[in-house]
Amino acid sequence: MIAEAIRQIETELQGKARLVAVTKTKPVNLLREAYDAGCRRFGENKVQEMADKQPQLPADVEWHLIGHLQTNKVKYMAPFVAVIHSVDSLKLLQEIDKQARKHNRVIDCLLQIYIADEETKFGLLPEEAETLLNAPELNDLIHIRIVGLMGLATNTDDQQQVRQEFRGLKQLYDRLSAVQRPNVAFRELSMGMSGDYLIAVEEGSTLVRVGSAIFGARN
Ligand SMILES: *Cc1c(COP(=O)(O)O)cnc(C)c1O
Repeated sequence: MIAEAIRQIETELQGKARLVAVTKTKPVNLLREAYDAGCRRFGENKVQEMADKQPQLPADVEWHLIGHLQTNKVKYMAPFVAVIHSVDSLKLLQEIDKQARKHNRVIDCLLQIYIADEETKFGLLPEEAETLLNAPELNDLIHIRIVGLMGLATNTDDQQQVRQEFRGLKQLYDRLSAVQRPNVAFRELSMGMSGDYLIAVEEGSTLVRVGSAIFGARN
């Protein structure tokens, strides 16, 4: 039951973090079911899929792009995307700024940080994120706002390892929160998925991205 799962997760979050329901690969009727259960934030990992679904849901849905993003795809979501969680380069930020400007918008962005002990995950190293936040070129980008960080923990049963990875990301978040730039204002720490969102909230997450615990396993 989608509504029941959402209610349970909301109860567990205790208002400490907000839920992004991850709807990738799921048909629009299930998104409507989640919407009717009160969900207003949806996360997709592919731009095209998100752009296809967006007009089919009410306008008060916040769309979150959580997957790896290529510069040539930014234009398809620039009119409506609320938060891009997966920014990993200045070049990408420049393209988001350029496309947001065409729609007279300011798009909230999170820097994706590499925290997992895995080869396959995308993201910036902590020192790369710091360099990016101090890049002079950032001054020109008035149509983006960097509002925090995102990270994926290692896919492991070792909860202690997952906790340490989240804790490290929170420490980086706290440190980089001190950066003073016109378009940098940290307030979101996106961490936690179906298997680890409770740990993530204990370690300071403000946005959890939960898919299979709501909608069931993906094929
Ligand atoms: C798919 C995905 C999730 C949700 O994963 P679940 O384990 O189904 O909750 C969260 N974050 C990202 C970046 C994802 O790609």
